[in-house]
Amino acid sequence: MSEYIAALSSNVRSRFFIDGEWVQSHSDARHVLISPATEEPFMSVPLADSVDVERAVAAARRAFDSGPWPKMSGAERSVYLKRLTEEIRQRLPLLAQLWTEQVGAPITFANGLLPAGITRFEFFASLAESYEFEDRRPTRRGHARVRREPVGVAALIAPWNATFPIVSHKIAAALAAGCTVVVKSPLESPLDALIIAECAAAAGLPPGALNVITAGRDEGAQLVQSRDVDKISFTGSVATGQWIARTAAERLARVTLELGGKSAAVLLDDVDLPSALAALTPFTMPFSGQICFAQTRILVPKARHDEVVDAYAAIIAKLKVGDPHDADTRIGPLLNAVQRDRVRGYIERGMEEGARLVLGGTGNGGFKKGYFVEPTVFSQVSSPMTIAQQEIFGAVVSILPYDGIDDAVRIANDTPYGLSGSVYGRDVEQAYALASRMRAGHIGINGVELAANVPFGGFKLSGVGREGGREGLEAFLETRAVLMPAAA
Ligand code: NAD
Repeated sequence: MSEYIAALSSNVRSRFFIDGEWVQSHSDARHVLISPATEEPFMSVPLADSVDVERAVAAARRAFDSGPWPKMSGAERSVYLKRLTEEIRQRLPLLAQLWTEQVGAPITFANGLLPAGITRFEFFASLAESYEFEDRRPTRRGHARVRREPVGVAALIAPWNATFPIVSHKIAAALAAGCTVVVKSPLESPLDALIIAECAAAAGLPPGALNVITAGRDEGAQLVQSRDVDKISFTGSVATGQWIARTAAERLARVTLELGGKSAAVLLDDVDLPSALAALTPFTMPFSGQICFAQTRILVPKARHDEVVDAYAAIIAKLKVGDPHDADTRIGPLLNAVQRDRVRGYIERGMEEGARLVLGGTGNGGFKKGYFVEPTVFSQVSSPMTIAQQEIFGAVVSILPYDGIDDAVRIANDTPYGLSGSVYGRDVEQAYALASRMRAGHIGINGVELAANVPFGGFKLSGVGREGGREGLEAFLETRAVLMPAAA
């Protein structure tokens, strides 16, 4: 067992956080965590059953209906959120290690991306203070008080791949809005949200404002179906998101869905290749491609295709593949055998459908243990090919030639997804013009960036609604207008 796992409190290791207390799970069921790097079990965690889900929802419901949290002003909630942020900040190095430990994220990548979680808390703590939760508008009879109220109890459901940054977005926005929440952690990375619960306890959040359980699909579904849950904020696969949307529609529960992606990075004719690739490459297969906004399709002018392929493959060939705990490692293992076999299947499909394999393939890089697949680059990919259409969630990048700007736009938009994208060129206005024609929710010019004050989310199958920015707060608000008579 690593020193980080050994150092976790017994609460985080063996309890859930419900109604401001650390509680034992109702059943004895446990889930064993397997290291993606060694294939060895390294700890087990309690699993919530339907009784635990009911307890957590009931606590959040009580805290919403009769507790102080939704009644506080934004400025009052902000004080708690700032304290919570400071508690989390102290645990960032631990959270980075846990990201590596639980799902195999290379430690340098984890250290680089984790502060995004903190900036999300900082942003929403400060937005709660400044946001105008009420405004007044003149009417024929008098005036209307238009109030933006917390929507109610929010179920926050996160995937395994980047649990801390993702739950941070959801928890920070929901609490800032005045919602009370139940977080359902994924089985593969259950520890992150429990550490946030530990921080919430230290920050003195009122009981029931934040509740955290670890559970699988059935209990996630129970949360979605619960009549006491007013809002579901989900990040995960398209299939689950579609089921949630259908189920929530029964009672018109509010939903935000952050789903998959097949993002295009478009290099323009005038691109300065070395600087563009320096900016783009880290985002093409971050965390072995297991990140929703990975820029997995590189679109290049036909005339520059071979030059780009050579330059990009030369960079990827140098990336160190190996133990995710090693600071030099850039590509670690995939999550598990299912994920590995899925990625290999896509690589085989790419070869069968006629793409040119430039680098990598279905091999495991010679590792005796761990779910490794070599970083893989395909060139001469055409848009209808499976590898250019479906989210692979592995370190597999396709390079597609295009013939003119209209063709670049056509190819960029030619998938069912629309999460992210990027455009690279010396003329940034030309790059912006192309970005404006891309059907995607989050597009970078000459780089890729996450910013807490900017909305994040997808077009088409990539989701519904936005997280981050003012829009992320408003996703947890409901509007009430009270029309007042003229003053006597
Ligand atoms: P998944 O849909 O299998 O599971 C996600 C979460 O939903 C897990 O906690 C799971 O237990 C829970 N769940 C599963 N079935 C459920 C149900 N019927 N009701 C309620 N909860 C249920 O997805 P995954 O494999 O864990 O995650 C990978 C996917 O997530 C990829 O497609 C990736 O692109 C996507 N993702 C999207 C974003 C984004 O912001 N757009 C970010 C990260 C990951």
